[in-house]
Amino acid sequence: MKVTEHIKKASGKTLFSFEVIPPQKGSSIQELYNNIDPLMEFKPPFIDVTTSREQYIYIEKDGLLDRKITRMRPGTVGICAALKYKYNVDAVPHVLCGGFTREETEYLLVDCHYLGIHNVMALRGDAMSHQKYFEPTNGGHTYAIDLVKQIKNLNCGKYLHDVVEAHDKANFCIGVAGYPEKHIEAPSLQTDLKRLKEKVEAGAEYVVTQMFFDNKKYFEFIDAARKIGIEVPIIPGIKPLAVKRHLNVLPQVFKIDLPEELIKGVEKCKDTNEVRSLGVEWSIAQCKELLQAGVPVLHFYSMGKSDNVQAIASALF
Ligand code: FAD
Repeated sequence: MKVTEHIKKASGKTLFSFEVIPPQKGSSIQELYNNIDPLMEFKPPFIDVTTSREQYIYIEKDGLLDRKITRMRPGTVGICAALKYKYNVDAVPHVLCGGFTREETEYLLVDCHYLGIHNVMALRGDAMSHQKYFEPTNGGHTYAIDLVKQIKNLNCGKYLHDVVEAHDKANFCIGVAGYPEKHIEAPSLQTDLKRLKEKVEAGAEYVVTQMFFDNKKYFEFIDAARKIGIEVPIIPGIKPLAVKRHLNVLPQVFKIDLPEELIKGVEKCKDTNEVRSLGVEWSIAQCKELLQAGVPVLHFYSMGKSDNVQAIASALF
């Protein structure tokens, strides 16, 4: 079922969902299942599976360093299929512009269609770790909107080279990213919102937000989005803060602000257990307010660990 159909079917009741990261290659998928198992009691109608950018690795050979490019966490579509059939849940693969040619994207979407995957998140992806700015892959897309258009074309039976007559059309529900605190590269929040509107006009049916720790930012974002005519569901992304290091890492990586009260609270914590508990408490308070506001879904960034998300969901659902 499509994410938008799940939302419609819930008739105003807030749903629970989360995002997982594929394990590093060489690890067992069981580790992923062990993290997902405790969250299934909260009946997520869909689970997102991220896609990681490729990266350079250096292999020593005859005293020289050989540079190879590889993806350390492959398997997004395979994991989606595994989750769908193991848990009878809809799985949403994150599809990136970065690192994929349009052809490769078409093959990936065909795989998804055959596997009965009905939803995809269309994302640009970040720059690779050695790059300062995002550089489109040769033969790949530059912006998420281009990917949205390719998926939408496929839904209409239009493949890249127009050489096939499609008797069996795909029918993907397309999700895209939104940024309550603006995307780092956008010159202003308003310009970024206009870009979001363009993605919706191109065919995106729902938005999932970047994490935020101050609900005011989300509510203002919703108001501004509605004002310029973005009417699709905007799902809040929630991340429980878990370690002291997050105070520096999260603003740096995700370009978000942390509220003073949260920073002061974390600074007072004596150890990681205390930080984790505070992170859980903060997320519960955030989610209670979002529930009251009637958000369609509470979507959690589990980052491979589920105990804190389980504690939060237990207090809410
Ligand atoms: P876009 O919508 O293409 O926007 C990127 C920037 O370009 C923005 O500043 C926008 O304002 C601007 N822009 C857009 N269109 C145009 C245009 N036509 N002309 C000029 N400027 C334009 N990353 C991963 O690598 N893997 C994941 O699995 C993943 N999952 C994510 C899930 C969510 C919910 C979110 C919020 C982010 C996720 N990301 C993921 C991160 C994402 O890839 C980065 O934030 C990336 O930098 C931007 O992606 P986007 O899809 O928002 O890009």
